[in-house]
Amino acid sequence: MHVQFWGAARTVTGSMHLLVVGGKKVLLDCGMYQGNRREAFERNRDFPFDCAEIDAVVLSHAHIDHSGNLPTLVRNGFCGTIFSTTVTRELASLMLLDSAGIQETDNEYLNKKREQLGKEPLPPLYVTEDAIRTMSQFHALGFDHWFDVVPGVRCRFHVAGHMLGAAIVELVLTENDHRVNLVFSGDLGRPARPLLRDPVTVSDAQYVIMEATYGDRLHPDEDNCDETLVRLIERAQKLNSKLIIPAFSVGRTQEIIYRLGGLIESKRLEPIKVFVDSPMAVDATTIFRANMDAMDDDFARRMRTEPDGDPLYFKDLFFVRKAEHSKKLNDFHEPCVIISASGMCETGRIVHHLRNNIENPDNAILFSGYQAPNTTGRHILDGNPTVRLFGEMFDVRAKIEKLESVSGHADQGELIDWVGEICRQGNVQQIALVHCETEPATVLKEKLGEAGMPEVLIPSRGHIMHLEPLR
Ligand SMILES: [Zn+2]
Repeated sequence: MHVQFWGAARTVTGSMHLLVVGGKKVLLDCGMYQGNRREAFERNRDFPFDCAEIDAVVLSHAHIDHSGNLPTLVRNGFCGTIFSTTVTRELASLMLLDSAGIQETDNEYLNKKREQLGKEPLPPLYVTEDAIRTMSQFHALGFDHWFDVVPGVRCRFHVAGHMLGAAIVELVLTENDHRVNLVFSGDLGRPARPLLRDPVTVSDAQYVIMEATYGDRLHPDEDNCDETLVRLIERAQKLNSKLIIPAFSVGRTQEIIYRLGGLIESKRLEPIKVFVDSPMAVDATTIFRANMDAMDDDFARRMRTEPDGDPLYFKDLFFVRKAEHSKKLNDFHEPCVIISASGMCETGRIVHHLRNNIENPDNAILFSGYQAPNTTGRHILDGNPTVRLFGEMFDVRAKIEKLESVSGHADQGELIDWVGEICRQGNVQQIALVHCETEPATVLKEKLGEAGMPEVLIPSRGHIMHLEPLR
């Protein structure tokens, strides 16, 4: 038996690992590879194996770099079951349908360009129909229960604390009476994050596949997110202006709503109108609300103590679904907060809000997540005096700020603590570091070595890790 690393190997995108046990083939994640458009399209389209030969998929969580290429797998002949947690299935449904829409629009645009150049049109990576078919292949399960993936592969999900529904995948593999325990961290969250439960430590493993996004750094100490929100909202109230928060629709938006609700309930903030302007964020919040039992103890306490019993709602919070209502926000002249997507300001309604508000020095823009190089968000955050929106240049006059340490990924210390606990309790023979650039992986490998941990591997794409049973 072995694992072959086909994605998120020495990079942070396209998570996909092929597990082969007793002739059965199981994929751990099937994420979309994101990067240079052409390279990404080809990488996502051309699987390095026959999709029809895959027996099952185990999905760690709904983020698109872990789930986003499932419809391509299905389009290419995969007809097995996709195992995930219940919440992951619900969130994946939102995200895959949204992604299919993006694939269709992108493809139309590209084919128009190809037509002008006299080239043949290309089919899209996948379409809505593929995403719908993919969702019909899901089989959702709760945390902490063992289930059979295929003969020889038993599995159990543990809370990863990275996003709602995210799982650490524990696997017991059997081949010819030999047994191996393998743990796949998925994306590992952080202890004491708002809304989410803390990541669980798994006790027994011989092999660990662990993410190492932040293998080379420590996150800043508990930040002053709440203070920043209070300060900027009080400023908006004083100047009768707007606070615009670009945020990812799933996860970050709900965390901000949760924080704002807490600040208003505890009277640290005077009430202010808050608009969540993104149809996907509206749907995702509904899913969060339907899964309140998956949240942490603080959330449960607020459910009991708040008058309406809903920590994801407060007076003056408005969810905006229709585009015509979104447009009306331009003519709204009271102080308010607008939370909108996309998180990196590349597409979506946030671009309209930036266009209408970025030249007014009384307004503020508060970034709430990672801004990748060459994105509009990064451009603004880097302090450029002008920015291009819808092909036109605008002066950046609004106040620009950023919420620190809102990462959903464990840092170096937290990664070492998590895997260290497995090493103390189990009989770990090898740790493979994935979902990271080579640099952070190398730093973490050194640290793990210093801490006396077993052999650490930084697999490149296509590398095979043989899983030897305990003798
Ligand atoms: Zn993730």
